[in-house]
Amino acid sequence: MSKKNKSKKFPIIIANWKMNGLLRESMQNFKHIRTNIHDSLVGCEIVVCPPYTLLRDFAEKIPGTGIKLGGQNCHHEPDGAYTGEISAHMLRDMTCEYVILGHSERRTTLNEGSEMVGKKATIAHQNKINTIICVGETLYERDNELAKIVVREQIIHSIPKCSTAENTIVAYEPVWAIGTGAVPTSEQIEEMHKYIQTIIAQELTQFKNEPRIVYGGSINSNNSESILSIDGVDGLLVGKASLDPEEFWGIIESAK
Ligand code: PEP
Repeated sequence: MSKKNKSKKFPIIIANWKMNGLLRESMQNFKHIRTNIHDSLVGCEIVVCPPYTLLRDFAEKIPGTGIKLGGQNCHHEPDGAYTGEISAHMLRDMTCEYVILGHSERRTTLNEGSEMVGKKATIAHQNKINTIICVGETLYERDNELAKIVVREQIIHSIPKCSTAENTIVAYEPVWAIGTGAVPTSEQIEEMHKYIQTIIAQELTQFKNEPRIVYGGSINSNNSESILSIDGVDGLLVGKASLDPEEFWGIIESAK
């Protein structure tokens, strides 16, 4: 069984700045992208997910630019005594339209499991924030033919019942490709994206249409165009290369 339509055909390019960026240099980088967008035709939706310390400055400068703002995580409770955490409501207050959830850096270093990711996604949706839910296998899992089993488990348990094709993006990010310079072959990417589509179509009845499935892992301006042309790739989640405004602009240009 296949779902009817992709929710949107326009590719989406998402910048994940992680724990990088001080105020002055970051706002200069943002200005660079904003000026380029103003001067040219852009063929994609652009989302920037800076660290929390920059959200307010972005919230002030982003309206009218066509760029959307995202958070890198949110807590699964609405508020309360959770020192050091950020709530979905706070992200919404900072005009965030997206949040990255279940990034492998959080799944591994903070032991964040799929059920927890699902709870976070639920509260994000309650706050009208679209979720970018990351899934992906380690090299050990790929080498031992466990990649599909792991990704299926992550998909089924991380995506909540309130998800729709409109409020959810799945990011396939093989852990071994993140920040390593190693990129899967086009065949490997296409195979996994099609597999994710099948799991969603067959097992997640909450989706009436196909959500967008983006690829992430060692994207740069040299490989972005060919990866975007792979069947089933609806956009890119970009880490390191998104910190360099020239490089990030090259990636945006390749989505034309
Ligand atoms: C990421 O961390 O989501 C990512 C894709 O990182 P990089 O582009 O640096 O591999």
